[in-house]
Amino acid sequence: MIDLRSDTVTRPDESMREAARDAAVGDDVYGDDPTVNDLQQRAAEVLDKEAALYVPTGTMGNQIAVRLHTERGERVLVEADSHIYYYELGGMAQHSQVQTYGIDGGERGVVTPEAVREGYVEKSLHRPGTGLLTLENTHNRKGGTAIAPERIDAAADAAHDLGVPVHLDGARLFNAAAALDVPASRIAREVDSVMFCLSKGLGAPVGSMLVGSEEFIDEAVRVRKLLGGGMRQAGVIAAPGIRALENRHRLSDDHDAAQRLASGLADVDGLDVAQPETNIVLVNTEMPAAEFLARCEDRGVDGTEFDEHVARFCTHWNVTEDDIDAAIDAIEAVMD
Ligand SMILES: *Cc1c(COP(=O)(O)O)cnc(C)c1O
Repeated sequence: MIDLRSDTVTRPDESMREAARDAAVGDDVYGDDPTVNDLQQRAAEVLDKEAALYVPTGTMGNQIAVRLHTERGERVLVEADSHIYYYELGGMAQHSQVQTYGIDGGERGVVTPEAVREGYVEKSLHRPGTGLLTLENTHNRKGGTAIAPERIDAAADAAHDLGVPVHLDGARLFNAAAALDVPASRIAREVDSVMFCLSKGLGAPVGSMLVGSEEFIDEAVRVRKLLGGGMRQAGVIAAPGIRALENRHRLSDDHDAAQRLASGLADVDGLDVAQPETNIVLVNTEMPAAEFLARCEDRGVDGTEFDEHVARFCTHWNVTEDDIDAAIDAIEAVMD
């Protein structure tokens, strides 16, 4: 099976397994795990922020950030197709008791400063006030679009001018950085907190990082504990995360693979393939996407349904060029 469902299906390589086996560990709830501490320090350095926290999942990282930045009842400005709104079970309502306001980020999921100002409500006797703006880069549901740092800055500046903090869901931040050929720290420069996943294209088996100011991370430790995310000898899973961080330098291989796949599918009748910006290929299908994907599966290629007529294929380090070519042949045969 050529598994293109997600970049989360990657298996840890030998170096990660060795790192896990050899990791120095301690009880991380006491702050005693040297490997976790090392990972946190490296993550903060890579993003040029003060501090970072290792969390089990990206979802938990995002939800901790919302909880910390907001007060009950406040409005949170989100891109209407963003993961934090679309795929996290309404967690913002459940954990933070806030209401969301969806901004339409258009084809590429870009939140403009005008949209931030439009979505903002001022706190008053009758209105809840605006607690947070969240941004996403790369934007998953828009097809892995890599949003330029200037666009992130513009939205963040507009929010800050209104006294509203900004959280960046950078689950695939390093994909954006690779595609735009800028350091990830540049993309995150103007935002207050960032979440990124070690467990996607970077290839770690477990974990994400929440990054921000020292004060923010000190509080984040408490909310992580509240959500049941305080871990003990977590160095065993953090050690592969340290290796994974170095994989940010190879993500352009995944982008090349996505280009190869999209080009190979460009002329197939019944499919309309968007030009990928990173490692996600969205395919519009004439037949229902569910049927298309079932046929692909029969021929050994797995993808995910994104919409009634949209399938997503995601490239990652466990697929080779030969796999991509075989996937193209299989999908062509499906449509024949
Ligand atoms: C995967 C993802 C998350 C959540 O990460 P998990 O580790 O699966 O909880 C958040 N945001 C985006 C954009 C993602 O793609």
